[in-house]
Amino acid sequence: YTGKSSAQLLTESLKNIFVKDYQSMPVVVNENISVYDAIVTVFLEDVGTLFVVDENLLLVGVLSRKDLLRASIGKQELSSLPVNIIMTRMPNITMCKKDDLLIDVAKKLIEKQIDSIPVVKETTTNGYEVIGRITKTNITKAFVALADEDL
Ligand code: ADP
Repeated sequence: YTGKSSAQLLTESLKNIFVKDYQSMPVVVNENISVYDAIVTVFLEDVGTLFVVDENLLLVGVLSRKDLLRASIGKQELSSLPVNIIMTRMPNITMCKKDDLLIDVAKKLIEKQIDSIPVVKETTTNGYEVIGRITKTNITKAFVALADEDL
C-alpha cells in the first residue's frame, strides 16, 4: 500500500497522459479556398474547426464555425471570398506539441475559450506543420478513461 490519497493518484495519472495518446486527425485546407468550400468541408469532414495551411503545408490560420457563420451573414459572395481574409492568423494561434501533457492543453482550451488546438511540429524553416488536433472531445475521452482506470 502506497499510502497515497486518491487525489494524489489522480494527479499522478494526469501527469502520465500526453497529447500523443489522445490526439485525432487534423482537417486542413489551403488558405486560397473559398469560405463556401470551407463550409462544405466542415460538413463533409464532420469537424468544427479547420486548420489553414499555405502552399508548403505550414500552418497560417484557424477557422471556427463561428468565423464561417460571421462571414455568411455578411454581404460578400462566399464562393469568391478566400478563407485567409476571415481566419484567425499566425502568430495568434494557440498550438501544442505531441509530448505536451494533455492537462496543460485542457487548461489552454479553457483559458483561451476555444474548442480546438492544433498539434504541431516545428520545421527547420521556423514554420509549423499540423500533425494532429486536440478538441474538447479528446479531453472528454481522457476524462472518461480516467474514471475507468483505462490508462
Ligand atoms: P466557435 O467560434 O465556433 O465557437 P472557437 O470557440 O474554437 O469556435 O473559436 C473562437 C474564436 O477563436 C474564432 O475566431 C477562432 O478562429 C479562434 N480560434 C479557435 N481555435 C483557435 C486556436 N487554436 N488558436 C487561436 N485562435 C483560435
